[in-house]
Amino acid sequence: MAIDEEKLSSAESLRKTRTFGKVRCHNPSCMGRIQPAAGADHVKCPTCGMEYRLVWVNPTLPRIRGPVWDVNRKIAEETITEKEAAARKKSVKKGGK
Ligand SMILES: [Zn+2]
Repeated sequence: MAIDEEKLSSAESLRKTRTFGKVRCHNPSCMGRIQPAAGADHVKCPTCGMEYRLVWVNPTLPRIRGPVWDVNRKIAEETITEKEAAARKKSVKKGGK
């Protein structure tokens, strides 16, 4: 009996610690955990800034339906621009006297 009770309580504590209402960022270089507001139709990753459209499987279980392309493209373009600017700086240094 004691063993059964222990099993039950550990199963219960597992259920409690399971993360409800969280999704994982789809950005492969981020994979951060995002906790959207209940019922939100989109969410922004606090780590990388990517935005995703959400669908709610049930009131506590969100799923990422897809990225918000306008926002993510902008972020990607900014990243590319930064990288290009950094590369230009480097080449100028290298090419300079
Ligand atoms: Zn992210």
